[in-house]
Amino acid sequence: MKFATRLIHGSHAVDPATGALSIPVYQTSTFAQKSVDQFGKYDYARSGNPTREALEEALADLEGGTHAFAFGSGMAAISSTLMLFAPGDHLVVCEDVYGGAFRVLTKLFGQWGLSVTFVDATRLEAIEAAIRPETKAIYLETPSNPLLKITDIRGAAAIARSRGLLALVDNTFMTPYLQRPLELGCDIVMHSGTKFLNGHSDVVCGFAVVKDEDLAHRIGFIQNAFGAILGPQDCWLTLRGLKTLKVRMEESQSSALKVAAFLDGCPQVKRVYYPGLSTHPGNAVHSGQADGPGAVLSFELESFELTRRLLEGVELAAFAVSLGGVESILSYPARMSHAAMSPADRAERGISDTLVRLSIGLEDPDDLISDLARVVA
Ligand SMILES: *Cc1c(COP(=O)(O)O)cnc(C)c1O
Repeated sequence: MKFATRLIHGSHAVDPATGALSIPVYQTSTFAQKSVDQFGKYDYARSGNPTREALEEALADLEGGTHAFAFGSGMAAISSTLMLFAPGDHLVVCEDVYGGAFRVLTKLFGQWGLSVTFVDATRLEAIEAAIRPETKAIYLETPSNPLLKITDIRGAAAIARSRGLLALVDNTFMTPYLQRPLELGCDIVMHSGTKFLNGHSDVVCGFAVVKDEDLAHRIGFIQNAFGAILGPQDCWLTLRGLKTLKVRMEESQSSALKVAAFLDGCPQVKRVYYPGLSTHPGNAVHSGQADGPGAVLSFELESFELTRRLLEGVELAAFAVSLGGVESILSYPARMSHAAMSPADRAERGISDTLVRLSIGLEDPDDLISDLARVVA
């Protein structure tokens, strides 16, 4: 079955117990057992819950994996995945990784003995050069946040394989509808499901997806032992949001292409970062590994004054942290997603004070463009 059909009729389509078309919210913390020597499939809800299981099976299927694990946030998914590593291990991480991932790596896992080298992952030779004897994994985000830099996933996965490392990809911006890193040779896909997967700005959730039994066993153990699970109500909302993933991504992406073209032609916009523009340096690599450029773009304005006017003056896009909702969201990386980075770290990564990120929702693109045009055209 094709992707759109699997979104609706995948393994999670019908509640096995009742036939309900919407998997019920199994709002329970525990499950009664038959006898001392006969335990059922479910015992305690941290270890397993049917609503969560339906969502996890859906995600595993969509990413082309065998197992998925749902967590209470994207950061819980990332942090739990990082628990695979041990003090003394080293990771090679793309330099403009999500600000929260940068923070947990440098402030928490660093103190615990995990070391990290941040590299410009758009250059495979930079990844290769950073590998040490104690390196255990390559951690990527492509397109990256907020500069939409593109890493060659197949190339990075091949390096990982030849050096005995795991390849991890945060696939939040693309979703499995547009990009499936496990099929490109990676080992673990991570998500903030808070963004496009749920898509309605009403749940915070995260996922780790794998295609290997041993990794599935290890992450399943961490999920249960560490305990950062997603609750049943949020699993249900995410299952519901997921059903429209294809139509939302298609519509938002088609509008993003129009908005990017408009911004690209504005004299007060210094630069537009969007892999859908033929001038984007990663355009060709991206087209070879993903089915579309997605619905997030960022751009640099000519002055801080104009940046402030835009952030405060645009009416249709909410000025907020987050992305991937049905409503367009305008955010300011220097003070929001990347506030956890020092000004020096931000400057080194090209995240300037006039950089704005725009996630395109489901409004009519003409309205979004007129709204932006009031300020920048
Ligand atoms: C939002 C985000 C995260 C963190 O997810 P939360 O659900 O906010 O914890 C991680 N990676 C990327 C790329 C994100 O956009």
